[in-house]
Amino acid sequence: MDDTQHLSLAELGDFITRVLTGLGLGDAHVPAVRDTILAGERDGGGSHGLYRLIMVARTMRLGKVNPHAVPVVRDIAPALVRVEAGGGFAPLAFRTGLPALVEKARANGIAALALNDCAHFAALWPEVEAVAREGLVGLACTPSHAWVAPAGGRKPLFGTNPLAFGWPRPGKDPFVFDFATSASSRGDIELHRRAGKPLPENWGIDAEGNPATSPEAVLAGAMLPFGGHKGSAISAMIELIAGPMIGDMTSAESLAKDEGKGAAPLGGELILAIDPARFQGDRAAGRMQAAEAMFQAITDQGARLPSLRRYAARRRSEAGGVRVSRALLADIEALLA
Ligand code: NDP
Repeated sequence: MDDTQHLSLAELGDFITRVLTGLGLGDAHVPAVRDTILAGERDGGGSHGLYRLIMVARTMRLGKVNPHAVPVVRDIAPALVRVEAGGGFAPLAFRTGLPALVEKARANGIAALALNDCAHFAALWPEVEAVAREGLVGLACTPSHAWVAPAGGRKPLFGTNPLAFGWPRPGKDPFVFDFATSASSRGDIELHRRAGKPLPENWGIDAEGNPATSPEAVLAGAMLPFGGHKGSAISAMIELIAGPMIGDMTSAESLAKDEGKGAAPLGGELILAIDPARFQGDRAAGRMQAAEAMFQAITDQGARLPSLRRYAARRRSEAGGVRVSRALLADIEALLA
């Protein structure tokens, strides 16, 4: 028997809605969380698609998220807006704050949105893509749980701290990238452990701080940032600007608050929006063309643009639906038992 099941995107959306409602997620949060998970599955699945429902359910069962939190928007300065998420999942907080972020970026040329006190289970690309589709440049980052040692250090301190960027392309899908600042995801290390395979070099260290390729040793020790001291500094920057700078937690504080339960990271997120037209003035058309020429030069060399794989998967899913692992669907159904 085929171990995957075909679902249209509408059917998949209905399934996710049924699961989230069955888990007891508040009505206002259901569409925001559903759309985030559906977008992940539509754009190629993997760790940020349907599989994320398991983390959502776990975080809810552990009481580490407020399923009925009502996000509150605070206009704190001409170019700054805060959404107090009240301990709820981040997607509704983002959705609630986006209109003010866009309006302020258009009015001032630049604006920042802080999401505070939320639970994070999602990828960041949907957010920077939404900003870029408004004709704005977007940048988003968030701390997570402290699993990553600083380059040259020995103990977990940083989160896997994703960084996402979006650039608007007139008449085209935005240029978007979104990745963790750790050398690998924690999920990839788990997959190697389950497959009994050693890790590539430089993914992690053991509990004594020695380089390690055993998944078990790295899970008990620490992951490493990508790119040595460079990734380490970027990860520290994310801790600062999406933690203390916006009045929220570091990854170490998020992990401490988790009390070893394994729920989604808690804390803040920073999203910047910049209106390129305000800088460019009457140079706008030529400069947006220069950006397009750069994208063309990348692909002319045989390199690919980040996000093109995702957009291609999106076109396929929109036309023909998705195939989802039957085992995963059964695991998710079991969450409702
Ligand atoms: P990857 O290392 O897989 O990198 C993904 C990015 O790189 C995508 O933009 C991808 O584009 C692009 N890319 C991949 N391969 C190539 C290539 N050969 N050429 C050009 N571009 C390429 O991602 P990570 O595992 O580091 O992160 C995955 C997700 O996890 C992210 O979405 C991140 O937001 C999320 N995350 C969330 C956390 C949270 O607490 N909320 C914590 C950590 C991570 P494409 O999509 O087109 O393949």
